[in-house]
Amino acid sequence: MAAFKRDRLSKKPLSSVVTGGAGFLGSHLVDLLLARGHRVIAIDNLLTGSVDNIAHLAGDPGFRFIHQDVTEFLFLDTPVDYVWHLASPASPIDYLEIPIQTLKVGSIGTHKALGLAKHKGARFLLASTSEIYGDPLVHPQREDYWGNVNPIGPRGCYDESKRFAEALTMAYHREHKVETRIVRIFNTYGPRMRLNDGRVVPAFIGQALANKPITVFGDGSQTRSFCYCADLVEGIYRLMMSLTVEPVNIGNPKEMTMIEFAHEVIRITQSRSKVVFKPLPQDDPRQRRPDIGRARELLKWKPRVPLSRGLQRTIDYLFSRTGSNCGKRKRQK
Ligand code: UDP
Repeated sequence: MAAFKRDRLSKKPLSSVVTGGAGFLGSHLVDLLLARGHRVIAIDNLLTGSVDNIAHLAGDPGFRFIHQDVTEFLFLDTPVDYVWHLASPASPIDYLEIPIQTLKVGSIGTHKALGLAKHKGARFLLASTSEIYGDPLVHPQREDYWGNVNPIGPRGCYDESKRFAEALTMAYHREHKVETRIVRIFNTYGPRMRLNDGRVVPAFIGQALANKPITVFGDGSQTRSFCYCADLVEGIYRLMMSLTVEPVNIGNPKEMTMIEFAHEVIRITQSRSKVVFKPLPQDDPRQRRPDIGRARELLKWKPRVPLSRGLQRTIDYLFSRTGSNCGKRKRQK
C-alpha cells in the first residue's frame, strides 16, 4: 500500500484532481503527485491525451481515471484538496483543427473546474500559457505585461480562451474566495509528446529520425525557449503549494532561434536531414522568453535539465515510438 501524504489536521490523505491528466504535461504531473503521496483522480476526454500516458498507473490504489469532457458537469463523490486544471489542446495544429473545443475547454471547462474547487473547498491551479502575451512587444515577458494578442486570428481561440480562463479564475478568487494559482507555461517538451502533435520539438525530432527535411517556418529567426517537462511540473507543484495568487511564468529562459534549434536536433540525432523553409504561420510570435524572476524569488524555482539532456530523453522516447532507423545515430542512454 502506498504511503499517502496526509492532511496535518484531519489526517486524511491529500487528494488531487488533474484535468487533462492523460495529456503530455497532465500525466507527468499525475506521476509527481503520486510520488509525493497524493491520491489522484485524472479526468480527460482523450481528445489530445492518451491512455498510453497513464497505462503504467493501472492498478495503483492511489490513482483513478475518469473518461470525461471537463466542459460537462464534474461530479465527484470524494473530498478534493487540489484541482489542477490542465485540460486543453496546446499545439497550434491541434487548436487550429479544433478551435471550438479549444475555446470551450478554456471557458466552460475552466468554469466547471473552478465550480468543483469551490464546492469541495479545494485550492485551484489554472494552467495558463505564454500565448496570453501573444506576439509580445516586450521582451523578455514579465507577468505584468498585458500582451499583444489578435483575438480574431487563427491562434485567438487558444489565446483568448486562456485569457478568459485567467479572468474567471481571478473572479472566483475575488468573489467566491477560492484559493487560486495561475501558472503561465512557456514552451515545454519531453517524453509523451505525440510525434504528430505539430509542435516544433516532436516535429523536428521526427523529421531528423527519419532523415527527412527539417521544416523551419519563416526564415527561422523567430525565438523560443524550451523547458523540460520534469522541471515544469516541479514549478507547477511549488506554485500550488505557495501563497502566490498572481500569475507566475514557468519556463526556461534560455532562448534560441528555430534555425539554431533545428541544427541542435540534427547534431544530437546525427541525422542526415537538411533544413527546408516553409511559410511562417499567421500570427506566429517573433520572440518568446520568460522572465522567471518571480518564480525564482517566490518559489525558489529554476530549470535544471539542460536542453541536450532533455532532448536526448525525448529523442529516445520518440525513437521507441517510431522504430525509425536513424542512419548513423548511436543510441545514448
Ligand atoms: N515551427 C517550425 N517548424 C515546424 C513546427 C514549428 O519552424 O515544423 C516553428 C513555429 O513557426 C514557431 C516555433 O517553431 O515559430 C514553435 O512552434 P510550436 O508549434 O512548437 O509552438 P508555439 O511556440 O508557436 O506555440
